[in-house]
Amino acid sequence: MEKFNGKVIFKGVAIGKVHFYGKKEETVKRYKVEDTAAEFARFEAARDQAIEDLNKLHDEAVQKVGEENAAIFEVHAMLLEDEDFADAVQNTIETQNVNAEYSVAVAGDNFAKMFSEMDDEYFRGRAADMKDISERVIQVLSGVSSDIAFDEPVIIVADDLLPSQTVQLDKEKVLAFVTEKGSSNSHTAILARTMNIPALIGVPVNQDYDGKMAIVDAHNGEFILEPDEETLEAQKAVKAKDDEARALLQQLKGKENVSKDGKKINLYANIGSVADVGSVLANDGAGIGLFRSEFIYLGRDTLPTEEEQFEVYKTVAEGMGGKKVIIRTLDIGADKQADYLGLDKEENPALGFRAIRICLTNMDIFTTQLRALYRASAFGNIAIMYPMITSLEEVRKIKEISAKVQADLTSAGIAIGNHVEQGIMIETPAAAVISDILAKEVDFFSIGTNDLTQYTLAMDRQNAKLEAFYNPHHEAILRLLKMICDNGHKGGAWVGICGELGADTTLTETFLQMGFDELSVSPSMILPVRKQIRESIAYPED
Ligand code: PEP
Ligand code: MG
Repeated sequence: MEKFNGKVIFKGVAIGKVHFYGKKEETVKRYKVEDTAAEFARFEAARDQAIEDLNKLHDEAVQKVGEENAAIFEVHAMLLEDEDFADAVQNTIETQNVNAEYSVAVAGDNFAKMFSEMDDEYFRGRAADMKDISERVIQVLSGVSSDIAFDEPVIIVADDLLPSQTVQLDKEKVLAFVTEKGSSNSHTAILARTMNIPALIGVPVNQDYDGKMAIVDAHNGEFILEPDEETLEAQKAVKAKDDEARALLQQLKGKENVSKDGKKINLYANIGSVADVGSVLANDGAGIGLFRSEFIYLGRDTLPTEEEQFEVYKTVAEGMGGKKVIIRTLDIGADKQADYLGLDKEENPALGFRAIRICLTNMDIFTTQLRALYRASAFGNIAIMYPMITSLEEVRKIKEISAKVQADLTSAGIAIGNHVEQGIMIETPAAAVISDILAKEVDFFSIGTNDLTQYTLAMDRQNAKLEAFYNPHHEAILRLLKMICDNGHKGGAWVGICGELGADTTLTETFLQMGFDELSVSPSMILPVRKQIRESIAYPED
């Protein structure tokens, strides 16, 4: 038995087999080889294996998600079969006397670069595929599993997980997440909470854990490999207690979100996909306060069409049966990257070309999404929210674009909702400081405390080394929250919190006293926050 410490991201206990996912993020090593013919043969065998894997994945995907969505695996297999790619690998092996892994990485980078510089949009989209397939061959060469699919529920252990990888996981088959990298406010951590899955970060991981029995004790922050019988029994008992506590919380279903002294507050849920709607309803969420629409754009190779998006938004709106569904427009960039967008690597991605900045630059992307949203608004109670706002000019510009989209749809005889509320996220210090001005322009504010904290404290929310410094309870943040809430109300906007801090039950009473109208939390936190609200005093006597 071995024990490792980590930081708890989502509490709980998981017991099961480890599935080591991906590989440690190391640059591919370059080393000299004597026998270049043997090295090329090694490449050919790995390539053939990768093609076989892709064909298998394709057949499975056709069953699960249909031919159209499965086609990508066929495209990847075809790209791998291309002789030009094999020739490029062979050339590097033979001219430099180097290993296959390195030669594949070089060929992958060169082909990706070549594709990304082409005029044709289709070919530009293939750049990401080239990287993907070269990575797949390298993984076969180095004997590492890249499969996301597994038959039985497992504990996912990885060096790091990208949001795009996490969204592809079959939630039913994941018992827990354990990673070495990552931070508590990264989107992967947020996804773990949304998925209601125990998670630890900062655990030293090793590929050798694959297939071994383990316990994730996400109460005490311990990852226990090959536990002895006594530890196993003790943890089973903790898990049973957890299940009991969860069952007790169920009694709060159907109860109001009201403080002891009568203040009511809306308690909504944060989601990342249609699949999360079930857990919002199961946890008695009165609405959706943040649908991170960018997850529709991740884990794929092309932009989602208006029609595809419309179907998603309509399904969520209908699934929520007339309850409010606040959909945030595309917030891509920083840690959420879609290679097909061809965005440049940036020095400071969190301060870079992301979210509304991308939308206001690429009007096609923005209007396609808005059209889908307004069309879907005819099927439920949709509200639209814009991320990363910093100025009044941005808000005015957005309203102008949105008004044009609405007018175009209406004049084409396409139905839209009666009054679709429009709100903004307050998550930059600039927006917080001018929130009195912005409040007059919108129906609501939703405070993104994850970003507001990182920008106010000048601390990268992704940086694991800053975990000890990143303090969302900092007096500066609490003062800003109160100021934004008051400014919103004065300007006629309702105000909520959709950042992770909204679910911090040590602050629930403070939020009630500050006067917030809404908290939006991961579905699994709805009932714990409701419990806290019902034990709080909103109007304390001085
Ligand atoms: C936030 O910044 O608090 C927020 C809710 O948005 P995201 O975490 O997706 O950046
Ligand atoms: Mg944010």
